[in-house]
Amino acid sequence: LRRCRAAVMTAFGSPLEIVDFPLPEVIQPGAALVKVEMAGVCGTDVHLWKGQLPIQLPVILGHETVGRLVSVGEGLQLDWDGQPLAVGDRVTRNSSRSCGVCHYCRRRLPTRCLERKAYGISYPADAPPYLSGGFAEYIHLQPGTAIFRLPDGLETEQVIGSGCALVTAIHGIERVGIDWGDSVLIQGAGPVGIAALAVALSAGASRVGVIGGPARRLEMARRFGAEMTIDLDAIPDPAVRRDVATEWSGGYGADVVIECTGSPPAVAEGWPLCRDGGRYLVLGHYADAGETPLNPHLITRKELTVYGSWGSEPRHTSAGLKFLRRAAAQFPFQEMVSDRFDLSRANEALRAMESWSARKSVVIPE
Ligand SMILES: [Zn+2]
Ligand SMILES: [Zn+2]
Repeated sequence: LRRCRAAVMTAFGSPLEIVDFPLPEVIQPGAALVKVEMAGVCGTDVHLWKGQLPIQLPVILGHETVGRLVSVGEGLQLDWDGQPLAVGDRVTRNSSRSCGVCHYCRRRLPTRCLERKAYGISYPADAPPYLSGGFAEYIHLQPGTAIFRLPDGLETEQVIGSGCALVTAIHGIERVGIDWGDSVLIQGAGPVGIAALAVALSAGASRVGVIGGPARRLEMARRFGAEMTIDLDAIPDPAVRRDVATEWSGGYGADVVIECTGSPPAVAEGWPLCRDGGRYLVLGHYADAGETPLNPHLITRKELTVYGSWGSEPRHTSAGLKFLRRAAAQFPFQEMVSDRFDLSRANEALRAMESWSARKSVVIPE
């Protein structure tokens, strides 16, 4: 019997434990087994680790992976885009599976599918096939998973460096809508903020500013085309930040403001940054980081529209992979991968994201 190792979260806030699992003996029709080459650590992993979503433990974290197909179940011949799949192919996947038949799937809202399951989040690791998260040597993909074969020209670092942040941003910006010439202000310079910056510019924004920190992350924002950055460390007073941002946007506020921080008070800070009639997108709150006082008067007086966006659909992953290839020169997502850890150091990978010391940390099982 072949076995492999995985980093398992057995209790919230406690160190991940390296556990030995059996590899599935039989791969069911439509399923696949992937040898993980690289798994990204997402901000959501940090929130999950802190217990900010009610998930069942134990769980193998990691919902962003690139790996090689080592076993393919009967009938699984094509990837989501219709490309042929074979053992040895380098693949990634959308992080979630939807049922296709529930109330929300039938109303074209598969991200809110009642049976939705996300790898690295909602598959407990104490029942077969066990291996449903990325911080492991192998990951098992259920039938119906949106698998994507990666072309040779697309580096693993590009895919993991953009991670679920890119597809999250594509989905969110599709919802909020960006018109040609819009000014866009992004709150947060982590992976979601950087991805939102790239997608906003590609969607036609004429100017994008970023409020965030630390300096290392803001440097990357400028590299990705941010016209203006506001460093939280340099300007700790939100009122002063608002003055700077408002002046930047011509005295009116930005056409679109995108929250990518995961910090509740950022939403209160963000509404006044919109121009009257502007749009506000809450993108950074996949986990429940708690409540914050908000003034609804602003929505009325400014005629604001506030959008939410949850996760992503396979079509966003498909679009994201094509975007990564086409826009590689302008948006060097591979440079987001800043800190690499082997499986036994998965805890340190989490800590590096928690402390914002990494642009993005990754786990490389071997
Ligand atoms: Zn994520
Ligand atoms: Zn459904």
